[in-house]
Amino acid sequence: MTDKKETALDAMYGDGGYQEEKYLGNFLRFKMKREGKRFWAGDNISEYVSEQDKERLIDEATEAFELVLDRLLIDRENDPNSHGTARRLAKMYFNEIMAGRYDPAPDATAFPNDSQDRYEGMLVVRSELRSMCSHHHQPVVGVAYIGLLAAEKLIGLSKYTRIAQWCARRGTLQEELCNDIAREIEKATGAKDLGVYIQAVHGCCENRGIMAHSSLTQTTVLKGSFKDDAGTKKEFFDNIKMQQEFAPR
Ligand SMILES: [Zn+2]
Repeated sequence: MTDKKETALDAMYGDGGYQEEKYLGNFLRFKMKREGKRFWAGDNISEYVSEQDKERLIDEATEAFELVLDRLLIDRENDPNSHGTARRLAKMYFNEIMAGRYDPAPDATAFPNDSQDRYEGMLVVRSELRSMCSHHHQPVVGVAYIGLLAAEKLIGLSKYTRIAQWCARRGTLQEELCNDIAREIEKATGAKDLGVYIQAVHGCCENRGIMAHSSLTQTTVLKGSFKDDAGTKKEFFDNIKMQQEFAPR
């Protein structure tokens, strides 16, 4: 064995083991398990998946979705509408509805907010979200309100939404999503006083199960003075109310 890559993989799989491993997906799962990396539906695994890997993983997922369609007794050979469905599903998962698992964090350049006329007020950003519940892979559609007291760093306004959407485009639970957004915003801005409020409707309650239309779920995470100071908390929710009155629904 002269190829360096194969040697490293063989070391992982045992002598020549990798060559018998047909699927890159299996290899990557093995690698993450071995390194103790969690890869739940809501986890970002971008450091394990390169852009080139993604192409191959889409091919492998296409094959798997073909099998699912076959098992569902859908004639994907003769039904023109089901012809490319397996590949469309595979691409949609990797590039769209679960892109936040495979893409690295959006670049959020921070600007110092430490001059004499620094901004010290509250900032509330409304971000539209598209997510998917990890239980049923049904759409979760809603808005997140991200509030914070300006810290030493400021990031571009659109970055709040980019970060929120990056967290949302995975298989999530709304409660976890709220925590994830708060954590990533804290990381990007250094703010210790912040709040995230999400309002969303869940496809898994509307399209199946209880079939309840307008099933609205609200979750809130409050940190620092948003949690401990009644005035700050009130200002945050007053801001949300003003946004809701103003924003076209
Ligand atoms: Zn669900």
